[in-house]
Amino acid sequence: MKISPKDDIRLEDVLNTTPVAVGWSSVSSGRMEYVNKAFRDLFGYTLEDIPDMESWYLRALSQPQYYQEVIEPWIKECQGSDVAHALKAMLHCKDHSLKQVSMTFSSVGDKRLWYFNDVTDYWVAEKRLRTRSEMLEMVAKSSALKDILNVIVKQIQQESPFSLCSVLLFDKANQCLKLGAAPDLPDFYNNAIDGIKIGANVGSCGTAAHLRERVIVDNIHTHRYWKNFTQLACEADVAACWSDPIMSSKGDLLGTFAIYKRFPSSPTKKDFELINFASNLASIAIENSRAQEELERRAYFDHLTGLANRRQFFEQCENVLNQSTEAHLPLAIVMMDVDHFKQVNDEYGHKAGDLALQKLAETSMSILRKEDLIARIGGEEFAILLPFTGKKEALQIADRLRLGIEQCILFGPDNEKIHITVSLGVAFKQGGHCSADELLNKADKALYRSKALGRNCVYLLED
Ligand code: GH3
Ligand code: MG
Ligand code: MG
Repeated sequence: MKISPKDDIRLEDVLNTTPVAVGWSSVSSGRMEYVNKAFRDLFGYTLEDIPDMESWYLRALSQPQYYQEVIEPWIKECQGSDVAHALKAMLHCKDHSLKQVSMTFSSVGDKRLWYFNDVTDYWVAEKRLRTRSEMLEMVAKSSALKDILNVIVKQIQQESPFSLCSVLLFDKANQCLKLGAAPDLPDFYNNAIDGIKIGANVGSCGTAAHLRERVIVDNIHTHRYWKNFTQLACEADVAACWSDPIMSSKGDLLGTFAIYKRFPSSPTKKDFELINFASNLASIAIENSRAQEELERRAYFDHLTGLANRRQFFEQCENVLNQSTEAHLPLAIVMMDVDHFKQVNDEYGHKAGDLALQKLAETSMSILRKEDLIARIGGEEFAILLPFTGKKEALQIADRLRLGIEQCILFGPDNEKIHITVSLGVAFKQGGHCSADELLNKADKALYRSKALGRNCVYLLED
């Protein structure tokens, strides 16, 4: 509105130029009588939308009980004083976005003047700092990855109302995405997505992971990336999905972070900021968890062959020994040692020797049953635990290993054919109890005998 110098300047005109959102209501009727331009700009509501303050608060508050529990007592407490002390509230705007405001009022006769300061940016910054420190504390305490990701997802959902978020984790070996955290998406939806192969046109997340690029789908029902998933999205009542690949500090794909919306919608600048914030936090959490998994893996696995190491072998051996004693079931342990391995190294080099050990591990794994455990417990020495296995079967398995390895062909640095053989010693426990050490010693003695018998053979040490 343009005011000419000749006009009387009205209070409404003055208030319309102030940057603070202001409105006034009548104390006696409760009716809202005026809102200024800053109020309309901040909340999107016009005077026609607000018959009285109480009904507006009930409509705008994200938790309506906040009116009876906090706002009403606050008004009562401040009545009588010229200006009320400020109160913070979270209010929904007409377009459903959320604003954190610091509000006060003052009374002049029958009029109550309301002032609203938009403190959303401070609130968001403070909440994000808190989320970040909460997450880092959880990372430091080695909390479960799922719990950490849930904290991130919940924070984003709180900041962006009517959003549903998900974090999916990239499984490199299977080139698929596994569920990380999506606490508010329906279970049937999460189950359908869990394990999905990444690729072009595999929804927003599968495609974002495939392209290593952010994918914004503002309408699932019409977008080609979602062609095969529209029914699923309908059932889950989601209509838009913006997905960001989560990358490690080294640039490897770790997973995806997605924001779903119930209605077709495009992200705003603030939404992009939010996605960046979430992806960054998720990246720290996932990277740390992977590093920890790797440390644990190294503590229990042999780095050269990927087989279990001595530590894991003894731990599992004790468990299975106890179980077999309780259930009165037999158990066998086999010691396996490569024959004249020093010569292999001397002749073809240490690298070829390493490859031979890897091939031997691979061959053994393909021969053994899934319940068996093979470990590399020394340089070229392997121990094999055969749970609940009788004497005859143990000997058969040991001989299958011997034969399988004998038939293996390896190639040296100049493409020379290398053959390796192994000697095996079998020890056996029928009843009673004995320790893993005792049984392994017995198997070692049996191995010594098979070496003495000329190698490339199996020897069973009877009690
Ligand atoms: P035997 O038939 O009596 O077992 O003879 P051997 O030569 O296998 O026995 P010995 O114990 O004398 O030698 C074992 C060799 O295994 C010596 C060592 O160089 C080799 N070795 C141990 N660990 C590794 C490894 O990680 N990589 C390679 N390439 N060689 C290894
Ligand atoms: Mg040897
Ligand atoms: Mg040896």
